[in-house]
Order: sequence, then structure tokens, then C-alpha cells
Amino acid sequence: MFIRRAATVIFLALLVVPAIGAQAPDQRLEALKKDAVSKVEARAKLAQEMVDSVFSFGELGFQEVETSRYLTGILEKNGFAVERGVSGMPTAWFARWGSGKPVIALGSDIDGIPQASQKPGVAYHDPIIPGAPGHGEGHNSGVPLNIVAAIAVKEIMEREKLPGTLVLWPGVAEELVASKAWFVRDGLFKDVDVSLFTHVGNNLGVSWGAAGGTGLVSIEYTFEGETAHSAGAPWRGRSALDAVELMNAGWNYRREHLRLPHRSHYVITNGGDQPNVVPRNASVWYYFREIEYRNIKELLEIGNKMAEGAALMTNTTWSSRILGTAWPRHFNKTIAETTFENIKQVGLPTWSEADQTLAKALQKELGNAAQAGLATKIDELGKPVPAAENMGGGSDDIGDISWTVPTITLRYPSNIPGLPGHNWSSAIAMATPIAHKGVVAGAKVQAMTILDLVMKPELVKQAWEYFNTVQTKDQKYVPFIDKDTPPPTHLNQAILDKYRPEMKKYYYDPSKYPTYLDQLGIKYPTVRQGTSQQ
Ligand SMILES: [Zn+2]
Repeated sequence: MFIRRAATVIFLALLVVPAIGAQAPDQRLEALKKDAVSKVEARAKLAQEMVDSVFSFGELGFQEVETSRYLTGILEKNGFAVERGVSGMPTAWFARWGSGKPVIALGSDIDGIPQASQKPGVAYHDPIIPGAPGHGEGHNSGVPLNIVAAIAVKEIMEREKLPGTLVLWPGVAEELVASKAWFVRDGLFKDVDVSLFTHVGNNLGVSWGAAGGTGLVSIEYTFEGETAHSAGAPWRGRSALDAVELMNAGWNYRREHLRLPHRSHYVITNGGDQPNVVPRNASVWYYFREIEYRNIKELLEIGNKMAEGAALMTNTTWSSRILGTAWPRHFNKTIAETTFENIKQVGLPTWSEADQTLAKALQKELGNAAQAGLATKIDELGKPVPAAENMGGGSDDIGDISWTVPTITLRYPSNIPGLPGHNWSSAIAMATPIAHKGVVAGAKVQAMTILDLVMKPELVKQAWEYFNTVQTKDQKYVPFIDKDTPPPTHLNQAILDKYRPEMKKYYYDPSKYPTYLDQLGIKYPTVRQGTSQQ
């Protein structure tokens, strides 16, 4: 109402005082951004406690029970309304605050990596619990970043009576790419105007257009045969394990004739019961990765043919179940450019000598050619990666959201450059001052970008223009799952059942210890003798 009435006089106002009309709102925005930055800084302790707590939970995908309970508790305490168990996933939730437009979604992943248990701040492999999962990617830090940014901006929006809705959500089971396509399918992003995703990295960065890396389908093939005595009457049995092995042999021959950017890998999830019983059931779990939707679909069709062939050869039957899916990512130009301006203003954290010593010692431990330590210069704004230059790589199911609503991924410098990924080494920095400072820097950028979007509705409009007329002009989103595909929430249950009792003894208690390093009694940094000096 107010806006409509005001619009009738804007034309006149612009004619009379163009300078003030153009400048005043920007000055207000700049002042509010400054305020947001200091409000984020004032919450550095909260950031550290959240980062360290989630690190100590070390939960795998679909088992993020403590993590979700803890993070939603903090959000509720800060006035967010939390809806739990969304999309049929017990550990998934959406938290909302505010009213009206724009609706800004802040997301980040929360799950860990198998076998990645690791003492933080120690520059060599030293698990807290051997064999247990841990945060060997750094997913303990992204939602804490978003919470700090959201609380800071919420205070400002309340005080200034700014319209807008903040929606926080977790990337459940990102390592299985098994939640975001389900969130999209179930309409959780229907009313969202802009999606600001964030993911741990080793620099502050953002990109637009087609990202590097791949999309994928994660699918488990199960074969069924018949048991028999493996020595007494093997001719009476039909081996499902033979089918798995033949499918894998077939796939590995075919591999030579697939396009260069493709990646595929598998684990045998069921290889039978015991050698003297012909395996009646056996399963193999594949990730098929490619850089564009049509190529992923083609790999899936080849996989299905392989399963069919293996079943024919072994006189077994086969079935399959999609366990995860991720579209190749495409990020929004307007939002990326807006974010990048804020990245330039915030800049990288000031690293201490201890931070750099840890980073260089780890790079040496891993045998890296370069031991340059932590990033000291911000990355350029990332540009679209042409398909012909994309040689494949990892995936993230944020891809599905990026094809549903204008999206970016903000990377923040909480980890050490030059690590193999999905490995204990990526956990080393993740409950140290490196992670804490990286999260605070990222939260500042995120808070500033939220204010840009709240104060300048034209940015949201431009973002959708890019989405509608450029990004989705020739390519529309086609999900790999349908309305009946259940989320595979059974995954990782057995691993957590096995390790959780022991892991519980190491949960971080912020009421007793200033940091998790203090609780574990770790001297920061701990490096091998002879690597402490460069
Ligand atoms: Zn990740």
C-alpha cells in the first residue's frame, strides 16, 4: 500500500533531487551492513561453540541426531519457528523467522565422513576414536555460519522494521546427495526468492554460471538368486554375488569408452552371508557422475543394461533403488556479483603464526609439492565453466536447488588448502582458530548479502531475470526421483550404532571448557618434531 502511493510521487522526486534520492538509501544500507559486521563479530564466541560442538558430534548422513537437536535448539532460543522431520527425514528441519518478501533461504550441510575421526589441531593422522566417523570435510561449520549471520541480521530487521523472511535449513546427508532433491520435490523452496548456500573451503569465494564438477545419480542394484550348499550341490544355486561381480567387470571394461569428464565408483554393500552358502542376495551401490543432465541419464541407462546383462548371465533377477541424486550446479550471476562485493569488503581473516604452522606442517605431512600455508589473497569472482573445459570432479545436491530458485554457494576459509578431501586431514583445522575465524568472515559476508537483498528488491528481480531468461532458457530441471522415491534414511545407522556410545564421551561441553582443543588437552598446534619451523 505505502509503496503504491509513494510511487506516484517518485518520478517528481527524482527530477527534483536525484542525488539525494539515489544516495540516501545506499548510505543507510552501508551503515546497516557495518552494524551487521560488528554484530557478527560480537558473536565470535557463539560461532566457536557451535563449530566445536557439531565437530564433536561427528555424525554421518541421516544420523545427524545430536547436531539437529543442538542447532534447532539455538534457533528456537533466538525466535525461529522450527519444523522438524521435513521430507520424511528425522534429522531434517526448516527454521523460519520474519514475514513477507523477500524470502531468503540460508543453507549448509551438516553430515560427516566415514573413518574421519581426528584430533583437531594435530598435523598428522591421530584419530579420537579409530574407525569412527568425523568431520573430514568440514560440514560442522556451515550452519553455525548461517545462524550467526541470521541472528545478526534479524536484530537489525526488527529494529529497522524491515520486511523479509529468513529460512534456515540443513543439507542432511550431503555426502550421500540424498536430501536436497527431496526438499525440492516436496515444495520446501516454493516460496523462496533467493537461496544463499554456503560450503566450507580454503578461501572466501563465489562463482556464477555453470560450476565445475559433476552431477550424479546414486543407485543400489540388488540381485536375487537361490541358495544351495556351495560344495555339496553348487549346481542347484544361483549366485547373486556372481551377478554383482559380473556387473562390476562389465562396468570396468565399459569405463574406457565413456566420456572423459565422467566419474563412477561403487562399493559392494552386500556380498552374501558365508562362503558355503551360495549367496541368494547381493547388492552393489554405484555413483554415476557426469557434467550435464543428459550425460548422467545416459550413464544410468548403461548401468541398468549392465545389471540386466549380469542377471542374464547368472540366472538371477535384479532390482534397483535410487539412493541419491544431484544436478550439476549452476549459480546466479546477480547474487554472485552482489556477494563478491561483500567478500572484497570483508577480506580474509588474519592468520596467526600457530595457524600457518599447522597448515604448513599438514601440507608437508601429506607430501604436497607446495607448502604455502593458508590463503592470504582472496579468489577472483568465479566465471562459468564451459562444458568443453569441465573435466569432472565432485558433486553437491545444491545443484537441484540451484535449478529451482536463484542460488549461490559462498565458500569460506575454514580449511587448509591442498588436502585430498573426504579424509581425516580435512578434519584437522575444523575445530581450531582457523575454522572459527573462517566462519566469522563468512558470516559477515552472508549477513551483508542478506541486507543487500532485503534493502534492494531490484536485485531479487534481476536474479530471477537471469534464472528465467539465461539459466533455464534451454535447460529445464528434470528430477531423477519421483513422488514416491523414499529418502534412504536407513543409511549409516549401523555405523552410528557401533560408534556412538564411544563418541558420546567426547562431545564438547562449552560450560566446562573454553574450546574443544582445551577439552581434549591438545596443544595448538601439535606438529611432528622438525616441522614446527619453516
Ligand atoms: Zn561438502
